[in-house]
Amino acid sequence: MLVSAKDMLNKARDGKYAVGQFNINNLEWTKAILLTAQEQNSPVILGVSEGAGKYMCGYKTVVGMVNGMIDSLGITVPVALHLDHGTFEGAKACINAGFSSIMFDGSHLPFEENFAKTTALVNTCDVLGLSLEAEVGAIGGEEDGVVGAGECADPEECKKIADLGVTMLAAGIGNIHGKYPANWPGLSFETLEAIKAKVGDMPLVLHGGTGIPDDMIKKAISLGVAKINVNTECQLVFQEATRKYIEAGKDLEGKGFDPRKLLAPGFEAIKAKVKEKMEIFGSVGKA
Ligand SMILES: [Zn+2]
Repeated sequence: MLVSAKDMLNKARDGKYAVGQFNINNLEWTKAILLTAQEQNSPVILGVSEGAGKYMCGYKTVVGMVNGMIDSLGITVPVALHLDHGTFEGAKACINAGFSSIMFDGSHLPFEENFAKTTALVNTCDVLGLSLEAEVGAIGGEEDGVVGAGECADPEECKKIADLGVTMLAAGIGNIHGKYPANWPGLSFETLEAIKAKVGDMPLVLHGGTGIPDDMIKKAISLGVAKINVNTECQLVFQEATRKYIEAGKDLEGKGFDPRKLLAPGFEAIKAKVKEKMEIFGSVGKA
């Protein structure tokens, strides 16, 4: 059964570890992440972007697939199914489809509009027992080939949104999506500390987990980060493993063309990456 991310994140905050959000794209991704969470006895958050939701034939298909797998694979660790960077419309669609957790990303909107729309969703999610993530201060990254610098959120705005009663808050602290450029100055712990001082117990979310050095991840956790999003890194290891299989000519040997064989190395690579991340985040054994 899907659960809200609230309890798992409050426990993570208190226990000084973080729960990983791993984004899913298809059946192999979802199965790899769920099986690894179960093997590691770790809580887990499955992230679905609006684009990935569309790719997987809509939110209802995603909910059906994830619920089916939890049942047939015997998954007993806490699993939250979470909309990643949702629009207001996307949030409503996922609530109706049966997601257990929602992110509304109004960080690119004027602050007043972000505040008003987050307010509306706080009430709905509260009634339905869903967790809600809000965002303040846009997280940079590659868009149309231009790499934007990671923005730093205004701690006062973070407090205003946190006080609405959201479950967790994503705030820009110099982090970006995708691969980090060579001249990236690193996370702004000064900003993180200032935000933490304003929002108190609110679990904080670190987006763009791909390529942030482990020591920075650990420091961020010690300063209140309880959820870390990983997406690009799983895509990269899947791609590398699949390329290796084909370059070695294995798809041409025997029944190597069978998609269940062709996609197996990528599946195993995602499992290994998710395990590695759960170990770094400290969530192993915390289910
Ligand atoms: Zn993100």
